[in-house]
Amino acid sequence: MTQTYNFNPGPGPIPNEVLAKAQQNMFNFEQTGMAVMELSHRSAAYERVHFHAMNTLRELLDIPDDFSVLFLQGGASLQFSMLAKNFLSDNKAGAYVLSGSWAEKAQKEGAAIGEVYTAAASSNRTYADVPVFDPADLQENTAYVHLTSNNTIYGTQLSDWPACEQPVFVDMSSDILSRPIPWDRVDLAYAGAQKNAGMAGVTIAIIRTSLLDQASGSLPPSLSYKQHADKDSLYNTPPTGAIYITSLVLDWIKEQGGITEMENRAKEKAALIYDVIDRSNGFYSGHADKDSRSWMNITFRLPSEELEKKFLNQASERGFTGLNGHRSVGGCRVSNYNAVPREHVEILRDFMLEFQQNHS
Ligand code: PMP
Repeated sequence: MTQTYNFNPGPGPIPNEVLAKAQQNMFNFEQTGMAVMELSHRSAAYERVHFHAMNTLRELLDIPDDFSVLFLQGGASLQFSMLAKNFLSDNKAGAYVLSGSWAEKAQKEGAAIGEVYTAAASSNRTYADVPVFDPADLQENTAYVHLTSNNTIYGTQLSDWPACEQPVFVDMSSDILSRPIPWDRVDLAYAGAQKNAGMAGVTIAIIRTSLLDQASGSLPPSLSYKQHADKDSLYNTPPTGAIYITSLVLDWIKEQGGITEMENRAKEKAALIYDVIDRSNGFYSGHADKDSRSWMNITFRLPSEELEKKFLNQASERGFTGLNGHRSVGGCRVSNYNAVPREHVEILRDFMLEFQQNHS
């Protein structure tokens, strides 16, 4: 088998131990004679998977009892409009901190539902930093503040969580489960599973339960957080197979030492690559300002587009995959999710050093 080093930005790698366990259980999950995804979502065997995943997530992220954990569908993109649909009533507005393209998309989806405004933006700096804002400047009619904790495309990451009086909603698609969440400053955190939490198909949403009753009264039930919370995310058929993979990923994180361990590993792995960039005398130039750097997505350029092409081609021949920057920005990007082994990052670091030596 060809050795592949998977640095895809999402869907990304899933730990080998998880894939092996899923394979081992595929034809006979817990003596049912069936795969998990063949079980009724109302069966006791499936319910054990479902609630095990919810409880393990609670444990790992230290989620307080007054938050509800939801397993939804539609990706983070549906959350962009679902949160607006639930909380943007007639005279209220959603405040958006624009720190990258996904934040822009969140705002655009919100604008299709109600009034939105920009609280802060770093678009004039090609999103090289995470913009800061003063919560005191928020409009009086603000329903919520929307943040993106990690900007997958530009490679920046939020470090100072603002303290706001208004509810704070955070898109954590590309750094959930790699850091603790300060629940005193966050009221809704959501993420598609396909980067750090499993496979595409399930979207995790963790919401302060007291908000559920404040949602708009005229919601289609399938778009109501309260409806899903009241039914323990079994209002309609949940993505059972994807939730199963998430439950295995959560077990894996626990076995590895939990969120602190994930965070330490991610920072150490990212430092290996940032170190190459910083010592390269400008051969590799990082996109993000140093104090806004992400430890999940590392973005950089080479001296010319021609060299970038060569770098990516050679990398691909060596088995590295997913190193091209997002199509909207070009350049290169190393996605360093939880399931990327340190050894793979070391091999990439060595390749980057070698490539620089041969081309400068
Ligand atoms: N937000 C962020 C920060 C993302 O990185 C992505 C996907 N790359 C999305 C939202 C969109 O997620 P989905 O494809 O699950 O809708």
